[in-house]
Amino acid sequence: MKEDESPEIPSYGIVIIGAGVSGLYQLYKSREIGVSALVLESGTDVGGTWYWNRYPGARFDSESYSYGYSFSQELLDEWDWQERFSAQPENLRYLQHVSNRFSLSEDIRFESIVTECIFDETCDEWEVHVEDGFRVRCRFLVTAIGILSKPLIPDFEGMDDFKGPSFHTARWPHDEVTFEGKRVGVIGTGATAVQLIQEVAKTSKQLTIFQRSPNWCAPLHNSPIESTEMADIRSRYDDIFERCRNSFSGFIHDSDRRRALEVSPEEREALYEELYASPGFGIWIGNFRDVLVDEQANATLTDFIAQKIRERVADPKLAEKLIPTDHGFGTRRVPMESGYYEVYNQENVLLVDLNETPIEKITTDGIQCSDREHPFDLIVYATGFDAVMGPYNSINFRGLNGRTLAEKWEAGPRTYLGLATAGFPNMFTLVGPHNASTFCNMPRCIEQNVEWVSTFIEQLFSSDIRRVDVEFEAEDDWTEHVHESAERMLFSKVDSWFMGVNKNIAGRDARTFMLYVGGLPRYTELCDEVARDSYRGFVMS
Ligand code: NAP
Repeated sequence: MKEDESPEIPSYGIVIIGAGVSGLYQLYKSREIGVSALVLESGTDVGGTWYWNRYPGARFDSESYSYGYSFSQELLDEWDWQERFSAQPENLRYLQHVSNRFSLSEDIRFESIVTECIFDETCDEWEVHVEDGFRVRCRFLVTAIGILSKPLIPDFEGMDDFKGPSFHTARWPHDEVTFEGKRVGVIGTGATAVQLIQEVAKTSKQLTIFQRSPNWCAPLHNSPIESTEMADIRSRYDDIFERCRNSFSGFIHDSDRRRALEVSPEEREALYEELYASPGFGIWIGNFRDVLVDEQANATLTDFIAQKIRERVADPKLAEKLIPTDHGFGTRRVPMESGYYEVYNQENVLLVDLNETPIEKITTDGIQCSDREHPFDLIVYATGFDAVMGPYNSINFRGLNGRTLAEKWEAGPRTYLGLATAGFPNMFTLVGPHNASTFCNMPRCIEQNVEWVSTFIEQLFSSDIRRVDVEFEAEDDWTEHVHESAERMLFSKVDSWFMGVNKNIAGRDARTFMLYVGGLPRYTELCDEVARDSYRGFVMS
């Protein structure tokens, strides 16, 4: 596959960073367009998110059959999903199966942590440096590094003093971890913690949950997929993918055309009840079309969900602690659950409200809060990620005139279509900031990203163009469009990783929208328009 291999530095048409869902497909497509490609992957296996996040309870929030790749009929024919919302072990097996099926790992270099990517202006190539000293050159650099791939553990005093095991959920040990008879402390109550807590509560002797901010959670309603149902799903794959492509965020759920405020209270309640009892994200993104844009409409849904929490948590005071008061339902990522609230009715479970008794330090035996010490055998940090910017800031990307991407994006990302950024020629950012993939049933948007980038690269290879960069004006227009699309959504009024806010990182307190929320159909149309218009907004030389 190698284009030209000098003894010192091998050279490829494309270097892809990351062997998760996007990196694997980019490798497959690179082969299809006849361009040599190498993937650099930091893990020991393929899978990305599903390789790293192997904590008990990790599973899709997307319907499994809407998450798998759609590009290969063979894959669709031979893979049977076992559950409506498949769990991490099966998800990883699926991606391993994809890799084996197409012999992808032949072109993946594992345990390769990319540290630096430098654009060589003399020959319009990227030079990519790996931590172990390996270097590689390429004409095109494609980042497939995800947006939730850099785990973040806050800097608690005394963390190294704890004598038991402790780890972040996204760095879960590969060996089995049991909770049986153990005292377990979990810090965090985001989507990850909500999944994990339900598993830990089943067997632990004592589970203590440290909550700084409650989140609005909704029932997942997972169930097995029997073979007859799988056969039916298989016969409908074309429709399922078509439906996803036409929905706002690539899911099988799309918003109800009615507005919450224009129907009667009874009609409104009926839809809320129906969605609360239905599987998946319908309650969030398949709801009345004004609930994520209009505060009054959102309040009706928020009140409904609050009432559900009150009904499910036996202790009324505890229920109130689990109900967010600083943001409405759905204005942050909604964690999905299967009995999360009932966990708090168990005798072995304790909620510590960190607003009342903050963590002071980690001790040799556990966690010291302002009122008392909680002793543990195991501490889990479910404290999230340095989202969106973290993966990009972890690599020293140097573009034209030696400028770094970190410098360029210091005040927030600036991109064109969320796929490229001016001053960093011949580089494409799959699932990059300001890309529709960031608010999407990921694989659906990833396939769009990869196919668009691959068609472009194929055309560039067949011409004598050596360098493709972004026009600053096109970048300004896209960045403005991203912000405009966001402003009408209630997400933009709430602190969250969607808005680039992270209380654990100094200087990350100002809101700047990281995602593109103009919807997948609009995004696809805009990308296609750019391509049809001879890649308007790109400068080629
Ligand atoms: P997260 O949503 O950022 O949650 C992190 C949690 O840790 C929050 O409750 C946060 O509290 C808490 N925390 C952080 N620093 C803390 C500190 N210093 N002291 C006390 N608490 C602290 O991260 P996540 O749960 O890992 O989820 C991140 C994203 O991953 C999700 O939004 C979702 O997009 C994705 N995800 C997807 C799936 C799936 O598809 N099935 C599953 C899990 C996650 P504050 O809110 O107060 O900061």
